[in-house]
Amino acid sequence: MNPKTVKDYIRSIHDFPHEGIIFRDVTTLFADARGFRMAVDQLLHGFAGARIDKVAGLEARGFILGGAVAHQLSTGFVPIRKKGKLPGAVISEAYELEYGEAVMEIHDDALQPGERVLIVDDLLATGGTAEAGIKLCTRLGAEVIGCAFVIDLPELGGRKRLEEMGMPIHTLTQFE
Ligand code: IMP
Repeated sequence: MNPKTVKDYIRSIHDFPHEGIIFRDVTTLFADARGFRMAVDQLLHGFAGARIDKVAGLEARGFILGGAVAHQLSTGFVPIRKKGKLPGAVISEAYELEYGEAVMEIHDDALQPGERVLIVDDLLATGGTAEAGIKLCTRLGAEVIGCAFVIDLPELGGRKRLEEMGMPIHTLTQFE
């Protein structure tokens, strides 16, 4: 039998958080030693050889993946969080959700001008969250060299949206 791929470790949960939604659950990937290592290694492969000064993770699963990626690269890690969670002075970026608006924040001293940043999260859907993260890093003067996600939902257009901004995107697997 072929060894399991990253996709094989991801669990799909129907009708979460709302009826009609299929939630792609990466906790089963994170819980498996081989699966988690494979995911972290493959996220890194997309940017092999690139100079990366910091890894930024998008709340919340981007912290788990991004922390492991940063450790592997021996870089620092920066959290990009939902509004009101970071204790220090922040800058904020609002973005559209299907119903309403959300706000992401970063500490205003988390990145230095010219630092090269890799953004990491578990899943790319519409790209709104990642775009807010890119804007926050850029506003601090850093250069986002790319974004890495475990899962791409191509029908929701996030990859296209971020690539149109000129952003290199690396994803490990897709779901329709
Ligand atoms: P976007 O902003 O529309 O690209 O949505 C991406 C964000 O929503 C990421 O931070 C994901 O963690 C989260 N997300 C949306 N759908 C799912 C899912 O099915 N599984 C896990 N996370 C999801």
